Amino acid sequence: MIFLSTVTAISTPNTAGGIAVIRMSGEEAISIADKVFRSGKRVDEMEGYTCAYGYVHDNGERIDDCILTVFRSPHSYTGEDVVEISCHGGIYVTKRILRTLLKNGAENAQAGEFTKRAFLNGKLDLTQAEGVMDIISAGGERELKMAESLREGSIFKKARECSGRLMKILGDLGAWADYPEEDIPSVEPENLRTELREISKELSLLVKNYDSGRVLREGISTAIIGRPNVGKSTLFNCLSGCERSIVTSIAGTTRDVVEESVRIGDIVLRLSDTAGIHETDDLIEGIGVDIAEKLIESSELIIAVFDGNSPLTEDDIYLMKRVKDKKCIAVINKSDLEQCIDVRELEEYIQRTVYLSAKEKDGVEKLQKAVEELFLINEETLMTVTVSNERQKRCIESSLACVDSAVEALNNGELLDAVNVIIDEAEQYLLELTGERVTEAVVDEVFSRFCVGK
Ligand code: GDP
Repeated sequence: MIFLSTVTAISTPNTAGGIAVIRMSGEEAISIADKVFRSGKRVDEMEGYTCAYGYVHDNGERIDDCILTVFRSPHSYTGEDVVEISCHGGIYVTKRILRTLLKNGAENAQAGEFTKRAFLNGKLDLTQAEGVMDIISAGGERELKMAESLREGSIFKKARECSGRLMKILGDLGAWADYPEEDIPSVEPENLRTELREISKELSLLVKNYDSGRVLREGISTAIIGRPNVGKSTLFNCLSGCERSIVTSIAGTTRDVVEESVRIGDIVLRLSDTAGIHETDDLIEGIGVDIAEKLIESSELIIAVFDGNSPLTEDDIYLMKRVKDKKCIAVINKSDLEQCIDVRELEEYIQRTVYLSAKEKDGVEKLQKAVEELFLINEETLMTVTVSNERQKRCIESSLACVDSAVEALNNGELLDAVNVIIDEAEQYLLELTGERVTEAVVDEVFSRFCVGK
């Protein structure tokens, strides 16, 4: 156990609410609480996992009625003694209690400091700590499930398992190299190769679904494009649920790019409504066209809108050709009107076609399904353990690259000593992943992304 100063912070949002919680962790948490909290029982006599009703005072001046909960080391979130004070959720009263704790010897906790202490005290590994952060930022059911699984240690366990196997290889190689005269079974390159290949497979699985997970966490940058009047703004408004861009039936009225995030099912689309791509002499509209071109380049998903109520035009075809290399969904809009579009000409460029009516808000769920299919969001991919962020991905990919090059070294008949060095490097990356061997800078980086009070 590492002993650090006693820190405190407000753990609930900085806004008025029913109750607020102030958390304090460290060696002196209980003695400081005892100084400022009065109830029928002294705080330092309270057992872990018990609470008391009383009030917090500042030098005898009563501040607020509170419930105080005690967690005794090591059975607490941070592993240290922890006290949580639940008070009335006013901003002033909460800050006043915080100030009283600071006056009595606690220090302000940094962003993520409670979780950082949990990590430093071995309560969580680094990936589980990242899982805590993912739970807080989860905006949908699937995202939450992935975050929960990370916090419960899904990546940690996998990393540990692979790391254990690598250690075993290193041990065998070491023993064999150090005591060649002893009766140690020689390391068979073929067995080594098989074992390394299996580890490589395990590691690849962890990064395989990274993109599906990332899509759920960060959303998809999406451009809605199409020639004027096909219903882009109406679709945009239908998805965002409010009148954000001006909808008129005069061709070419959407000139600026409007940006908004919308959620369809579990997926967030970071949308921009664009001027639409078409040949135009209109200078202002021309600026919009330029923007649209740039957006196509920078967007992960293109929703190309067509008017089902009118035949395809040259512009429509041009548009589809322009985006044929991107992930694209063709929306045939105005399904409530008579359909005169012939989509056969589009077929060679289109990955997915969805018929809907933006105006009647009819068929949006089909668009959701198409997005999920295109980005491989399904129960199966989400059930597999998958990494959550770039840091984790980098560590695993680096480890994987080392394991693969160890196999290659064996294939090339290189000395086992050389193979040993490469495997050792693979092992180091896994230790970096779990935080067992990691620089302070990396740890600080991870926790700086947390909020104060977590
Ligand atoms: P944009 O130029 O592509 O952004 O097109 P707008 O969204 O401004 O729509 C052009 C016209 O088509 C407006 O009069 C809309 O009300 C109409 N419109 C859009 N979507 C639909 C639809 O699904 N059905 C029908 N009947 N009209 C629609």
